[in-house]
Amino acid sequence: MALSRDIAGALERLRERIERACERAGRDPSAVQVVAVTKGHPEEAIRAAYDVGVRVFGENYAQELAAKASALSDLADLRWRFIGHLQRNKIKLIERARATVDTVDSARLAEALSARAAAKAMDLEVLLQVNVGDEAQKSGCAPEEVPRLVEAVRALPNLELRGLMTVAPHLDDAEATRPFFAELRQLAEAHQLPELSMGMTHDLEQAVEEGATMLRIGTAIFGPRPEP
Ligand SMILES: *Cc1c(COP(=O)(O)O)cnc(C)c1O
Repeated sequence: MALSRDIAGALERLRERIERACERAGRDPSAVQVVAVTKGHPEEAIRAAYDVGVRVFGENYAQELAAKASALSDLADLRWRFIGHLQRNKIKLIERARATVDTVDSARLAEALSARAAAKAMDLEVLLQVNVGDEAQKSGCAPEEVPRLVEAVRALPNLELRGLMTVAPHLDDAEATRPFFAELRQLAEAHQLPELSMGMTHDLEQAVEEGATMLRIGTAIFGPRPEP
């Protein structure tokens, strides 16, 4: 299929970028996972990526994730990560997808997720989203809030806190993003959190060099997003 061929080619170029960045940083490329970000892309794009081996997908909107998870439920080993802002009244919507929630940024959201996970007798993997750029329009807790939030989440049943996530400021010079990634890494190290979800198409090299374990990549795999 042409779509799968395009995606396979894009993945190969992406892997090369990741490998070169790992080489510069002395890291093992197998320690860097790619989350394929599919917001705005149709079900066929996800199937095409699945056909060439992609298993982990990221979605930003609860409604869109729910619809896609239901349409793709035949792909049993496909894994979802929720990477958008999650409102507490939308938690139920994404339950069927069994998605990790990578954007926990308040104790109230964590409490609501914990309560739902406990009610379903399941464990939910979460990341804390940190607004390292201190940008008013972005979600995420402030870096100063991380210690308290880590403690709060660790005290809640049925949540497994695995790491930190950030959407760094989009700067024309990707190199200028590096200090934000370094800050997230230091925060994670201070709390013994193994996972670092940071880096997108534009700044993945800097993220890998600063220790990313998860890259969230849309454009470099699927091309530009269709207009909503
Ligand atoms: C859209 C999105 C991405 C992917 O961005 P690209 O630049 O297309 O790679 C990653 N993370 C989040 C939170 C996003 O919303």
